[in-house]
Amino acid sequence: MSRIAVSAVLISAFSSLVGEGFSFDRCAAVAARLTAHLLRQEPDPSVILNVNFPVGEFAGVKVTKLGMGTSWAVAESFVQRAIASGVRYIDTSETYERGKAEIALGNVFARTGQRKDVYLVTKNSSYEGIKGSARAKSFVTRLQDSLDRLQTDHVDCYYIHGIRGQDIDILTDKEVIKTFEDLKKSGKIKFAGFSCHDRMLPELVEAGAKAGWIDQIMIKYNFREMEVDKLKRAVDVASKANLGIIAMKTQQGASAFAYKPGEKDEKINAFKDKGFKAPVAAIKKVLSDERIHLVVSEMTNFDELRENMSAVVDPLTTKEARLLEEHRVLTANRYCHGCGHLCETAAHGVPVATVLRYYRYYEAYGKREAARELYKALPPESRAIADLDLAGVDAACPHGLPVADLLRRADRHLGTV
Ligand code: SF4
Repeated sequence: MSRIAVSAVLISAFSSLVGEGFSFDRCAAVAARLTAHLLRQEPDPSVILNVNFPVGEFAGVKVTKLGMGTSWAVAESFVQRAIASGVRYIDTSETYERGKAEIALGNVFARTGQRKDVYLVTKNSSYEGIKGSARAKSFVTRLQDSLDRLQTDHVDCYYIHGIRGQDIDILTDKEVIKTFEDLKKSGKIKFAGFSCHDRMLPELVEAGAKAGWIDQIMIKYNFREMEVDKLKRAVDVASKANLGIIAMKTQQGASAFAYKPGEKDEKINAFKDKGFKAPVAAIKKVLSDERIHLVVSEMTNFDELRENMSAVVDPLTTKEARLLEEHRVLTANRYCHGCGHLCETAAHGVPVATVLRYYRYYEAYGKREAARELYKALPPESRAIADLDLAGVDAACPHGLPVADLLRRADRHLGTV
């Protein structure tokens, strides 16, 4: 509700109370509570809606350059606020909070009628490990389940969720391609795509660009990894093939692993003292790459939404670029780059990059239950960390991470029921 609207409600309430013979102090107290309530319910448009929020043409649809990720316990009231504040791109999945994210979004669309205002993406995760016709069919049945939860008759784009190197053949699977073509013809999806944060990301991006039926991709892309030559080349190929390129995990690595929980690090704190906000600069850095259409960010509260919007509106300054680079160098050995092929043999097959990613969800994002559930879903041999001799694993990491210590901490925190 705008300040003007709040004032109008207050004046009306005040007049009624005075008319009823209430004392001035009593009226003032009621007005104060009402103000707090009204301003808490709705974002203040003078702060948000008047922002010159960049809107771009994406796959024929106008979307904001800030998309909303929903892999956490998404609150309907917050989604409603985000849409009211100008967010026009929402990314979800059948797996997020075991379908609850889609249900929450569906309730918001039903209540507000704003499905038509949003570019909506959801994903199928159930194809993993399935081959043949069953794999292709899963995209039909799982999509319908998602549409029912989302209370809509179509999504703008449907993804293969978290495609991995071992699934690369799906991009040339004739039955899968035909299924997506049929889904497009039926109007249940407008576009086809995939999300990916696998170690084979560059290869998968190139394969997606060459596949001929993939319209957009969502990839792990952040200030720590966007300068890697192989990834730069792959993004170039995708850009030239006119794929929509969405960046996710852009702020990943903006906060680094603490070596010891609660440890004070003078150098890193010095960055904060300069007023430098690494997560904001991290979004700006990604959007400075013109091949990237938009950033999907996990936001859980109004302050984050406002901060991320500022990142989309204001370009990266020279000072921010310098501080971000200093931050990257200073914390390079506190961030897992996902190159598990380098250290997983020394870790006796433990999927180090995956375990440390879940630990990041736990430690940096505060998604404690979700991280534990993901960890518990790994095969038992991938979690047998406590009994392993991890003596050689630190030396296998070229980035200097204390891998053995991090794995043990991850197992301690994530393995707790
Ligand atoms: S621990 Fe080191 S080598 Fe292993 S995946 Fe992470 S960054 Fe790469």
